[in-house]
Amino acid sequence: MKRSVLAICTTLMLSVVFGTTMSNASAKKPTHYIGLHDRLLDFKDVRVIDNDMKVPLGDIAKVLYIPLEKEEGATYIRKRDIELIYDETTKLTTKNGTQVGWSPIVDVGGTLFISVKYIARELGFKVEYFQKLRTLRIYRDDYEHMNAEAYKTHVKKLLDKKQEAEKTAKPPVKKPAKPVKPAAKSKANVYLTFDDGPNKFTAINNATLKKYDAQGTFFFLGKHMKNNESIVKAVAKEGHYIGTHSMTHDAKKVYKSTKAFIDEMNEGTQLIHEMTGHDAKLLRVPYGSKPHVTPAMKKQLNQIGYKMWDWDVDSNDWKYTDKETDQIIKNVRTGVEKADKSGDRDIIILLHDRSQTSKALPQIIEWLQKEGYTIKTYEPEHHIIQNFLHDTTL
Ligand SMILES: [Zn+2]
Repeated sequence: MKRSVLAICTTLMLSVVFGTTMSNASAKKPTHYIGLHDRLLDFKDVRVIDNDMKVPLGDIAKVLYIPLEKEEGATYIRKRDIELIYDETTKLTTKNGTQVGWSPIVDVGGTLFISVKYIARELGFKVEYFQKLRTLRIYRDDYEHMNAEAYKTHVKKLLDKKQEAEKTAKPPVKKPAKPVKPAAKSKANVYLTFDDGPNKFTAINNATLKKYDAQGTFFFLGKHMKNNESIVKAVAKEGHYIGTHSMTHDAKKVYKSTKAFIDEMNEGTQLIHEMTGHDAKLLRVPYGSKPHVTPAMKKQLNQIGYKMWDWDVDSNDWKYTDKETDQIIKNVRTGVEKADKSGDRDIIILLHDRSQTSKALPQIIEWLQKEGYTIKTYEPEHHIIQNFLHDTTL
């Protein structure tokens, strides 16, 4: 017992003494871990500050889909009916206008760290701490997850594996730093996006992404979500972003009026929230935004804070049969190579949750990984503008 207290004190002192330099040193090997549902998050910098586990605000915002806004001298964290403001001058946090009696957010050498327990509880998560594993797990009861015992076993295995990998890794060779070779110009980021699910092919695509340790972005139709809630949850659980693709997909209904359009988007987003707990502000409108989305619709999207993605590369997957997957793969390759050569650093690929696409997907991912592209899911805090209206506010 004494020892663990001492360890905490030492960590604290070290972080105080070393300030910002610690952030680099500790970035190498985390000593504490954060779990989310059944996952162990890949946070590089988890610290114990004031006897409380804290992580960079930006890191946790990313996994919990919390939008952050920085305005003069203050950072705003708004989610559902909660508004937290961190004031740089006073170093105080307020929640919905009332000052919080302690410091859930602290500035460490210019990086804001937030208490994981605090933000989790504010957002309706439960928190459990596994002391031996130095792991703080957050989870929601309305969201499928392992029980504590199963999770402990799971994390122990992961950590043992990590440790084993570190042991067998070559010790760092100490030699004078040589000038860093200019790295080969890195390849673009690629976003695989899947429209028209959820359906049984969504489940296959989800499994394929997992197999290749790749991330995707799914635009679901409200009309299919109600009958496929378990698939929606499974996709969210793997950390893929889910946005709405309208309720009906019927152009006559979706684009009938501004109100009809916004209603379709709001209802779809609401369903995502009900099933996953995520605020999904990115949407993809059926048939592409041009020429369907009118200035009035656009204005409403802005007011609600929606973002909208069309795509860079169209796989045209819907045109082909299961026996013509080669053509889908070729369309993706050609499109991605062209976009990469043109200097596009974030390439969005349009795919669908269909049989032929699920058959082509393994080869598409293999090719992208072999060529050195980074496959990513949509990150709200690094929003990329990609819409056929060329509108920079969406
Ligand atoms: Zn569609």
